[in-house]
Amino acid sequence: MPILKKRQIEILSQLNNQELEKYVAALPIKPDELEELFFYIRSRFKNQLCDHTSKLTMQYLIDNRLPFPKIISWLNENGGYCDCKILENIETEWNKAFGNS
Ligand SMILES: [Zn+2]
Repeated sequence: MPILKKRQIEILSQLNNQELEKYVAALPIKPDELEELFFYIRSRFKNQLCDHTSKLTMQYLIDNRLPFPKIISWLNENGGYCDCKILENIETEWNKAFGNS
């Protein structure tokens, strides 16, 4: 039986606190910065639709001088291929694990 490899982000909500802490410590972005990124994308989406690039994310990362190659590749690995997918695949799982709405 083939095993579908789950994205790391999809098992977040099954981790215990200690495992979550470890996971967060290894991320290329701080949790509050990531949550701010979700908020930033969401607020831009009020005026425009996703053009299926990560340009809003890039803008945010550059404005905040964050290490974008590492962060973009982490986002891609977890299904965040463009700005709307970052909300759909990553924010959703993040909120499940960390209990934000
Ligand atoms: Zn998109």
